[in-house]
Amino acid sequence: MAIRSIVTRCGVIAGISLVLFVAAKSSVGQSVPRAASARVSATKARGATWQIRETVNFRVCSAGDRESAERLAARCEELREHLSGVWLNKRPVAAWKVRCQIVVHATDRQYERAVGRGAESTVGSALIETEASKIVTRKIDLRPDRGTETQTALAHELTHIIIADRIDRSQLPPWADEGIAVLADCPAKQAAHFDDLRRGLDGDAAFRIGELFTLSHYPAPERMGVFYGQSASLASFLVARGTPCEFVRFLELAAVEGYDSALSSVYSIGDVGQLERLWRKSLKGRDANFARQLPGKLWELALADQAAN
Ligand SMILES: [Zn+2]
Repeated sequence: MAIRSIVTRCGVIAGISLVLFVAAKSSVGQSVPRAASARVSATKARGATWQIRETVNFRVCSAGDRESAERLAARCEELREHLSGVWLNKRPVAAWKVRCQIVVHATDRQYERAVGRGAESTVGSALIETEASKIVTRKIDLRPDRGTETQTALAHELTHIIIADRIDRSQLPPWADEGIAVLADCPAKQAAHFDDLRRGLDGDAAFRIGELFTLSHYPAPERMGVFYGQSASLASFLVARGTPCEFVRFLELAAVEGYDSALSSVYSIGDVGQLERLWRKSLKGRDANFARQLPGKLWELALADQAAN
């Protein structure tokens, strides 16, 4: 059975968010040690000492110190619980049969080699591999620690992985996948996406919603910024009309029945045209915090923890 591999790569260069979405088998970091039976261990491979921390759902391989590997593993479990609760209404969350591997690379070069094409513009990269509709690989590659930037990349990429638990990625359009993931970004990055949206609307680069909904691939680089901002804004707008779980239900229905029918069933919005009018009207007076209506405090604790270290 052929394995379908999907890599999403997200990062920021010069204030513009970039993502590549590549149907290809990822080159898994060759320099990462394979065996780790202990919950915490350190091993040498290719000159680097890797700290390995295994928890119920994650296997963190970090070229950093032991304490930071332990903190990262704890943060991953915390994020998984939080994001699954928000989007999938699951709490407590059943353990994954296939752990998610988190690799914090020793150097930018190692990261870029492991992730492959397009990696130079990214901070983190998620890999999900499925076989016969079952997820067989979950993996997030991260650059060497960049503080909040790394924390944002982790939350964003982990959101992609958690949503894939519920919706097969072949059924999940890019706007929805990224719209949800941006809602996990830190406030500063959300504000940058909001600025991209504003610029796109002012310069007429924004998408008609019908066009955004039917994009099966990421847009050209010059529209990438507005794509992210608009996707997040639209996700935020719809989430605010109900709950995050209802938004996921809407996406599932849309994949089967089409957007007009799903909008009517879940949000009592007649069709995509009406959604366009309502969304554009809502932009007046909106602030840059797309995720303000999501439950829980995703970033307050993380940023405080970051400041303390
Ligand atoms: Zn993303």
